[in-house]
Amino acid sequence: MSPKPKAYLVGGGIGSLAAAAFMIRDGGVPGENISIFEALPVMGGSLDGAGDAAGGYSLRGGRMLTTDNYECTWNLFKSIPSLNHAGKSVYDETVEFNELHKSHAQARLVDRRRAKVPVTSMGFSMQDRMELLKLSRAEEALLGSSCITDWLSPAFFETEFWFMWATTFAFQPWHSAVEFKRYLHRFMLEFSRIETLAGVKRTIYNQYDSMVRPLQTWLKAQGARLVSDCQVTDLDFKTEGGKFIVTGIHCLRQYDNEVIAVNDGDLVFLQNGSMTDASSLGSMTSAPAKLTKEDSGSWALWEKLAAGRPQFGNPAAFNNCIAQSCWESFTVTLKNPGFFDLMDKFSGNEAGTGGLVTFKDSNWLMSIVLAHQPHFLNQPDDVQVFWGYALFPDRVGNFIPKPMADCNGAEILEELCGHLRFDLEIVKTANCIPCRMPYITSMFMPRLQGDRPLPVPPDSKNFAFISQFVEIQADTVFTVEYSVRAAQMAVYELLGIPLKVPAVTPHDKSLHTEFEALLKAFK
Ligand SMILES: Cc1cc2nc3c(=O)[nH]c(=O)nc-3n(C[C@H](O)[C@H](O)[C@H](O)COP(=O)(O)OP(=O)(O)OC[C@H]3O[C@@H](n4cnc5c(N)ncnc54)[C@H](O)[C@@H]3O)c2cc1C
Repeated sequence: MSPKPKAYLVGGGIGSLAAAAFMIRDGGVPGENISIFEALPVMGGSLDGAGDAAGGYSLRGGRMLTTDNYECTWNLFKSIPSLNHAGKSVYDETVEFNELHKSHAQARLVDRRRAKVPVTSMGFSMQDRMELLKLSRAEEALLGSSCITDWLSPAFFETEFWFMWATTFAFQPWHSAVEFKRYLHRFMLEFSRIETLAGVKRTIYNQYDSMVRPLQTWLKAQGARLVSDCQVTDLDFKTEGGKFIVTGIHCLRQYDNEVIAVNDGDLVFLQNGSMTDASSLGSMTSAPAKLTKEDSGSWALWEKLAAGRPQFGNPAAFNNCIAQSCWESFTVTLKNPGFFDLMDKFSGNEAGTGGLVTFKDSNWLMSIVLAHQPHFLNQPDDVQVFWGYALFPDRVGNFIPKPMADCNGAEILEELCGHLRFDLEIVKTANCIPCRMPYITSMFMPRLQGDRPLPVPPDSKNFAFISQFVEIQADTVFTVEYSVRAAQMAVYELLGIPLKVPAVTPHDKSLHTEFEALLKAFK
């Protein structure tokens, strides 16, 4: 390997940005040798956040993080300077913020009577406990491509635990039993505090402003090339001594095709698949367009490369059923503090100290989160922003006789105010922007061993995968951590960096944690 390789990263999500930073920080690769190609106009992938008070803000997602897990994420952000607090890292400022604004949700579940559901008990029967224990102890080889419903009886899906766990992590009953089991282990500490979300850590602003912006600023200062509006359509390759070697990258930029030569010793990283591929925004007067992967590009290259190469995984396991992987979120911009005041009174939580408020009997299974304000760097003092989502957008609402998928922002607000018994007057000047995400839980689809490639496949010389769709033992998808961990693993292996990737903390092996979880299960 050349001592100063060039590195090309396909996709500009947090995975690629993190990989670029690890190459510079730990691999000594000069920033100017690194290029990131992103199809969209901005970097950050799923960690988006955009808009202004006039046109309305929008986020596809709001993220919960922890400091008990997220080992690689914090390892990275301890090295990235804060943009707002001179002399501090992003990690420092996040920890300090969370000391001041501790999560302690007091209205985690709300029922059809608009009553807060008591959630100190998880609602398990003895059968639920036995089945959960059996699933949590089953080997992954035995679980295979089975679904959660193959292991847990119908009554389990009516427990308080399921409503809280499913809506915190976005699980559906038909999702992968392996992934559900991994979550039980990885987030065992959350089991004992799921009803208050006391373990959850938030960033100061949305994750674009608080994570992507500083990371991107640091990478640019190191000389890295961040190229947006650039779709990579194909890779040229050769095979030498049984090793797969990428030799060229086909880029489509503003309708021009360009082929970049990849020389001996250079490296290529691909973000294969994306949970926010083909996502679309609506408005107060229109529902989001119903797009599919045919309208977008994140899956195409992986599909092309994996055809006939089992070591590159099986994208169809994840992207072949929108009905099982789709849900919708929405972002509401308010210019009247009334909604936040009423929620403060109703929930008992000042914005930023609660968590998800889930309307457990709502047909759409709708939840909202009121983050600490301002939630955007450019948000004026007299504007508030909150985010919500629903796991069943295909169902007719309780107050709006339509599936959420066909609703505009005004109709979503009406449904929400119906569940809260708030006068519609309170949201008269609100701007609600819905967002449809057809592949949002594609990572949770039932899968077989081998459906996800290793970050560096065994026969690859200069090529790695960085995404939610790679196989990393014991870690859990649908997290920022998974992409950052994939990045650190891929970079250390391809560059031969003699450092250790931080281990997944074995909270599940701690007798104390296990005891707390058991106590909770029997409450
Ligand atoms: C609604 C929502 C809620 C979430 N909640 C949480 C949470 O609470 N906690 C948590 O930790 N995580 C959460 N996540 C998950 C987290 O945001 C993601 O796991 C992470 O951002 C994925 O990053 P990535 O870089 O792997 O992929 P992505 O963000 O998907 O980025 C991949 C990028 O690659 C680009 N790309 C792909 N192929 C090509 C190509 N051929 N050419 C050019 N560009 C290409 C795509 O356009 C995309 O921008 C949530 C995500 C969403 C959407």
